[in-house]
Amino acid sequence: MLITKPSYFDRFRCIAGLCPDSCCKEWDVQVDPQAASFYRSLSGPLGDRLREVLRDEDGETVMTIIDGRCPMWRDDGLCRIQAELGEGALCKTCRDFPRLTHDYGDFVEYGLELSCPEAARILLTSPWAPDLSETVPGGEEPVYDQEAMAVLKRTRQVALSLLATPRPAGETLALLLLYGYQAQEELNCGEALPFDPDAALQTIQDHAKPGNPAAIAELYTGLEILTCQWQARLQQLSIPVFPENTGNLIRYFVNRYWLQAVSDYDLACRVKFIVLSCLVICSLGGDFIESAQLYSKEIENSCENVEALLDAVYSSPALTDDKLLGLLTGLSNS
Ligand code: SF4
Repeated sequence: MLITKPSYFDRFRCIAGLCPDSCCKEWDVQVDPQAASFYRSLSGPLGDRLREVLRDEDGETVMTIIDGRCPMWRDDGLCRIQAELGEGALCKTCRDFPRLTHDYGDFVEYGLELSCPEAARILLTSPWAPDLSETVPGGEEPVYDQEAMAVLKRTRQVALSLLATPRPAGETLALLLLYGYQAQEELNCGEALPFDPDAALQTIQDHAKPGNPAAIAELYTGLEILTCQWQARLQQLSIPVFPENTGNLIRYFVNRYWLQAVSDYDLACRVKFIVLSCLVICSLGGDFIESAQLYSKEIENSCENVEALLDAVYSSPALTDDKLLGLLTGLSNS
């Protein structure tokens, strides 16, 4: 079985008490059955507290959020379970976060989640280096469509290669948006087609129309919102300014979402979601890393929000291709 991970993956260390946000804030932590029964079996004050705050709902066990935080979060920013029982006693959610695992049976891809401030810092500031791969014994028979996966892996490489040519990040994203439609065609027919960035740039120029950041902000305001901070930041959504390390952000989204199209063969909507996400993050103003982390926490960590946006990229008048191309190339009606 082939295991692949980004070059920076093993550098991640939780900064706990120094974390400016903390994964223990706002989120409902899902506790796996094994950890839940262990916690409920504990004696003493910690066991009593855990029995009070663990809640069963919809077949899952979660920690009840109290005053916007996990009840195990201490004033010094450390986790009470980890402090009293050691890291091995953490539930799977807390042990794994912010590590992402995409397990396809015969190959596994690891990554870091952008919603953790320290992971965001590492992945957005690390210079590009090839992924690390190793083959280990084990694995399972692939249950996915192998032909489709081969196309997705090949087209993802082409998409990532767009980052190798120095050009404004908005232009790279516009090319990615157009390439997404071609890659979808390749997925439909199984054949590799040549992609001509120069011809695509001409198409972009011919079709771009002024976009409307306020209409995009309105769309996002209608989604599930976790923090007042996000609500306030959306009101400031403006024309995008692409920082130098936008390429790292694009790479993160492409690596995280491209292969997921093997589940339903809809790559075009994922590519548009990738482009939209990068565009919105770069339109939020303020600190780039903090904007990206907040976006991820609010959007990527909510299946409902991701699903809503995957639908909206096809149906929302604010997200038509011509308007997105306009915003990416500096045309705005605001
Ligand atoms: S968000 Fe990341 S750095 Fe912060 S406490 Fe959680 S794992 Fe640690």
